[in-house]
Amino acid sequence: MQIEEIREIALKYSLQNAIQFNGKAQEKAVLGKVIGALKEKGYNPRDIIPIVKKVVEEVNRLSFDIQREKLEEIAPELLYREKKTKEYTLPPLPNAEKGKVVTRFPPEPNGYLHIGHAKAAIMDYEYAKLYDGKFILRFDDTNPDKDKLEFYDAQKEDLQWLGIEWDEEYNTSDHLSKHYKLAEQLIQQGDAYVCNCTPEEIKKNRKNRIACKCRSNSIEENLELWEGILSHLTGYILRLKGDMKSDNTAMRDPTLFRIIETPHPIQGDKYRVWPTYDFAGAVEDSISGVTHPFRTKEYELRDECYFYLLDKLGLRRPYLLEFSRLSIEGMPVSKRKINPLIEKGVVTGFDDIRLPTLRGLKRRGITKQAIRNFVISQGVSKTEATVSFSLLEAENRKILDPIARRFFFIKDPIKLIVENAPEKKKAIPYHPSNRELGERIFETDKIFYIPFEDIDSLREGVIFRLKDLFNIRILEKNKVVYGEYIGEELIPDTLRIQWTTSRYIPITVFIPHSLYINDEFNENSLEEIHGIAEESIKNTSHGEIIQFERFGFVRIEHTDKGIIGFFTHR
Ligand code: ATP
Ligand code: MG
Repeated sequence: MQIEEIREIALKYSLQNAIQFNGKAQEKAVLGKVIGALKEKGYNPRDIIPIVKKVVEEVNRLSFDIQREKLEEIAPELLYREKKTKEYTLPPLPNAEKGKVVTRFPPEPNGYLHIGHAKAAIMDYEYAKLYDGKFILRFDDTNPDKDKLEFYDAQKEDLQWLGIEWDEEYNTSDHLSKHYKLAEQLIQQGDAYVCNCTPEEIKKNRKNRIACKCRSNSIEENLELWEGILSHLTGYILRLKGDMKSDNTAMRDPTLFRIIETPHPIQGDKYRVWPTYDFAGAVEDSISGVTHPFRTKEYELRDECYFYLLDKLGLRRPYLLEFSRLSIEGMPVSKRKINPLIEKGVVTGFDDIRLPTLRGLKRRGITKQAIRNFVISQGVSKTEATVSFSLLEAENRKILDPIARRFFFIKDPIKLIVENAPEKKKAIPYHPSNRELGERIFETDKIFYIPFEDIDSLREGVIFRLKDLFNIRILEKNKVVYGEYIGEELIPDTLRIQWTTSRYIPITVFIPHSLYINDEFNENSLEEIHGIAEESIKNTSHGEIIQFERFGFVRIEHTDKGIIGFFTHR
């Protein structure tokens, strides 16, 4: 009896420990817990140690899925209670004072926001909040060739979905006349000049560190040409007089303004001369009062130009910060890469579940809490790294596991006939430990559907268990499986399999895979599988994220053509 009690407790804690450490329980940790739990009962550690050792070994031989199932069966409370809900926090901001921090998120309205934008926006927003500061949403809409009206609202909706709130919103394009005045100031100071060299010449001269003839235009010539550009001249740009000999290419007289005749989605044809990112980014950060602007590391070389320009204009220098650009293995985390996929119809749209767009992730069943935790756990590190999508999945799983209802789902069903099965009305909870999720009632008869895959590995005569129902002995296996009801008591180590009655619901599940394999488009990136689910799947709500046991999390949609699911992750 004593041994049984020790075994039971050792098993609980071994399973729990294994699940916390990727399937491998650690003897020492388990031993500590078991001794602790049995101390008051007067057990001697000398009796406990060999039993724990043995149980840990046994548990470590089981697969992760089985470990989980077992723990759920014998001590579901341990499955969730011990999972520490880690509070993610950001490191302190340098040079920051409470109440005085101003941050901004400056998307260009030329596409849908993706997980990389979420990283930037969440950090900007969280830092403003951390310091009781202000957070500005600024649309950097200075490229009429690319910017579209629909994206302003779409981007705002996505930010709202993430739970981000901004204290102020404006468009850079609303400040163009201010920008023109500053440009004029630069020209007047002799710090900018108008240039009509061809792009090829400019490129060549930059490479060879050679000044072109335009650089020696007089201030008067430049002012006159600038006036002309604003109204009608073509073929000109305005350049900063930097340093053509600089080792930093970004300082070799970068372009500040260029002519774009395409009508602007908001300003229409009011303007034909538009600032570049070098100009607008620096100027806007400064004049809007931003104290801590973040930029991705790829702009590092341009920082010198940022400050040089602000100094020349006599504008305040913000405290520029950098973080690494987020890349995810096998995913295009860039509008430049995503937009063509949508335009060419390679993916089904901006919310295709293979895309890292916020809409794609949402549709797939990635929660906003997981995105936030993922971003903050990645932190502000500057090291460029391509991370695996599984990190985001792990965060999402932590959110979903305790709250997602579980349903029976069978991928390749085979019919099971059990002549002597008792007719039952059986209530089975939707979740092994979260009772708030309720239960559903199965009415069973002698017909069941079970996964072919599971039964295929079992021989005639073997006993298995219809999960949460009763035990069956296999009598005959053919196109149909015949079985015999042999009672309800739990038999240790029997395979427990998913099932439905004949009132099942067909369901199509779409599984996203990597869009690219070795830089080639993966033709099989969207897998479609057909299966059946238990009848109560009808009671899910549109957009509910559930779990199909042994299969994974799935986000459900109710469509005209029936119920479909999007595979979130395992
Ligand atoms: P894309 O290549 O997707 O067009 P972008 O930088 O041109 O990227 P913007 O709309 O200009 O897109 O970006 C707005 C903000 O989001 C910028 O501050 C930018 O640094 C940040 N950002 C964009 N992509 C990422 C990413 N992959 N990781 C981190 N931050 C990003
Ligand atoms: Mg951009």
